Amino acid sequence: MGIIPATFEEFKKTGWKQADVILISGDAYVDHPAFGAAVIARVLEKRGYKVAVIDQPDVNDPASVTVFGPPRLFFGITSGNVDSMLTRYTAFKKIRNDDPFSPDNVPVNRCDRAVIRYCNLVKQNYKESYLVIGGIEASMRRFFHYDYWSNSVRRSILLDSRADMLVFGMGEHAILKIADELNTNKKPFAVSGTAAIQSEYDNQNDVILLDEEKSCIEDKNIFSENFKRIYLNSDKVIVQPVDRRFLVQYPAHVLSQNEIDSVYELPFERLPHPKYDGRKIPAFEMIKFSINSHRGCASGCAFCSIYLHQGRRIISRSEKSILKEADSIIRRRYFTGHITDVGGPSANMYGTVCTNESRCLRISCLFPDRCKYLKTDQQKWISLMHKVKRLDKVKHVTVGSGLRYDLFMRDNASLLPELIEFISGQMKIAPEHTDEKVLAAMRKKPLYKLEDFVKEFNTAVKKKGKKYYIISYFMSNHPGSSLKSMEAMGAETERLFKFQPDQVQSFIPLPMTLSSVIYHTGKDPFTGETVFSEKDTDRKRRQHMLFFKTKGGHHGNGAR
Ligand code: SF4
Repeated sequence: MGIIPATFEEFKKTGWKQADVILISGDAYVDHPAFGAAVIARVLEKRGYKVAVIDQPDVNDPASVTVFGPPRLFFGITSGNVDSMLTRYTAFKKIRNDDPFSPDNVPVNRCDRAVIRYCNLVKQNYKESYLVIGGIEASMRRFFHYDYWSNSVRRSILLDSRADMLVFGMGEHAILKIADELNTNKKPFAVSGTAAIQSEYDNQNDVILLDEEKSCIEDKNIFSENFKRIYLNSDKVIVQPVDRRFLVQYPAHVLSQNEIDSVYELPFERLPHPKYDGRKIPAFEMIKFSINSHRGCASGCAFCSIYLHQGRRIISRSEKSILKEADSIIRRRYFTGHITDVGGPSANMYGTVCTNESRCLRISCLFPDRCKYLKTDQQKWISLMHKVKRLDKVKHVTVGSGLRYDLFMRDNASLLPELIEFISGQMKIAPEHTDEKVLAAMRKKPLYKLEDFVKEFNTAVKKKGKKYYIISYFMSNHPGSSLKSMEAMGAETERLFKFQPDQVQSFIPLPMTLSSVIYHTGKDPFTGETVFSEKDTDRKRRQHMLFFKTKGGHHGNGAR
């Protein structure tokens, strides 16, 4: 164990004749469990495979993917932690100048549709190599999907990339299975958590058969109906006829607590690769003292990719594993005494479980009301943070991820003063909107009144003699949102927050999300209701800017 080779010199030093697996990523390589390529590299390495990484290849230079020669088993290809179109463009389709996943925040060799471009580049050089694609870009484009940047419906990325297999969601389990099969000269087939193009499929099982991909692309009603089937059947094999073959998705294996713990205990360097020579990678700087406590999010918000990527059921790490990770952070020379987060997609969902043992056909555990099977435990999360705080050399523990404030308050409002001890001046919440219709389209009806929360928060911080603020995230241009509802939101938030700072992001319909389906078809596939979406760029800009005129807040970068 040591660093994962990412340069020719490092590769030479290993003495290997050939790597077993070569990972190609659009991001700079950061050896930390928050970075997908690092997790996959370390998981494979632990199994005994020789892994090398090519980071940020130049798609105009074929030699950039030949530096280690071809791998013995496969190339693993990802755009990085974010979809390459989202990395490159703002909500208003302007090129971004910054890049938090590159050294010094400056984009390096970024390209549109990176997964497809990288696959083509590899194919040009190594026609016979086996290609596995994964990460958020592949995952959220695995079936037909609306693509905001071309304003069109695109076919599965498996067809355009010509990859042999697509790993969706969190890929640790699937990637090992693929590697093990190829290592014994078998062709990977029917691997949980993957999708592939096949000439036939096993019709014996309880298979969900979709309509032809072509008809989903051409007809909005068929698009909508088939999306619904994908959304509600993630636990089944889903088959779609494409180009006289079949796109087959095999349901993902859900990691157990032991399995997830073991991922975080892999020997990560917890640093960017030394080749960056100490240059700062903002995405790493942001999380270098933070601990991920769980995966998944029960909210099922329509605009968010997490439901289709990590799933709605929460898998929490054990306290032992989290404390062990905290201990390994504390030992770093660069540790400042401040653990900046113990959280996940929604910080206070740590320890949440679903007690239902049968199939679930809901699209959110919290919308339109809280599901009776959802068991949350706010105290468990707070106790965990106390335990981390008691560790030697830890001076502060704060909550960096967003808080599902309404769930917290509805569960245990009396814990608010204790929670305030764990904020560093600002508490981040994401009400997203104040209009009921927009919130319904978002699947985000608050379980607790925002106004009451703001009052109780202000009272609690006053009692403690602190000057703490709420940072509230809002969204413009989501389906259902109009100039009128934004005006109302501006007035309402001004009344609640006065001139406190806040953030507004302009909505981006991310591939395969429920919001993207509503945006494209003009209809909510689950309710059948017609929903207005602003599509004109000037009017979108007006909707977005209007809020700032009303409030004088900060511009979001439209990244969500
Ligand atoms: S049964 Fe309830 S708690 Fe469980 S996943 Fe479904 S909605 Fe969530």
